[in-house]
Amino acid sequence: MTASARLLIVGPQGSGKGTQGVRIAESFGIPVVSTGDIFRANIKAGTELGQKVTAILEAGDLVPDELTSEIVRDRLSQEDAAHGFLLDGYPRNTTQVTHLDAFLGGRDEALDAVILLDVPREESLTRLKLRATEQGRSDDTDEAIAHRLDIYEHETAPILEVYGARGIVDRIDGVGSLDEITERIFAALDARGLRVAV
Ligand code: AMP
Repeated sequence: MTASARLLIVGPQGSGKGTQGVRIAESFGIPVVSTGDIFRANIKAGTELGQKVTAILEAGDLVPDELTSEIVRDRLSQEDAAHGFLLDGYPRNTTQVTHLDAFLGGRDEALDAVILLDVPREESLTRLKLRATEQGRSDDTDEAIAHRLDIYEHETAPILEVYGARGIVDRIDGVGSLDEITERIFAALDARGLRVAV
């Protein structure tokens, strides 16, 4: 059974948003739309897009807004996203919020909730360095990690003010066990009337 929900999960790299996003999306029967995953898949497959963004991801910089928004519009236009989706990693700055608003507005849609996974910078750093050792991700150098956390603080955190003013942000304590955090997210969504249909 599919429940309609248009969700965004936000948090610093290393907050666990990827893992939590998959869990939430599976429960709601909606696709995860992760721009980071899309870029990495294209790099791996050696597509034109992949070649264009390789150096940007390695440096921990942001891919240009227009290009990123175009990719998201294409993805959200696919059939499986018609009744909902969970965005992970997009929008990443206020310009991208404007792009997403324009796209969703054109479909008479809007985000239902923004899940903010709140994790202190020190904790994110520790987790990212561990992941770098375990998975050997090429964009997980110390320098790139610190740079991405800076970008998060300066460019991504401001989007929470925009969504906060709309009253759709749920701030979730992102420190705890995976299951505890999933439960916190479900409780917050439930309080908004966003329930998994059974
Ligand atoms: P993530 O897996 O979300 O941490 O994304 C990995 C990398 O992909 C980021 O460091 C950026 O280089 C790029 N990226 C992902 N999402 C976006 C976005 N919305 N805008 C620009 N660049 C992005």
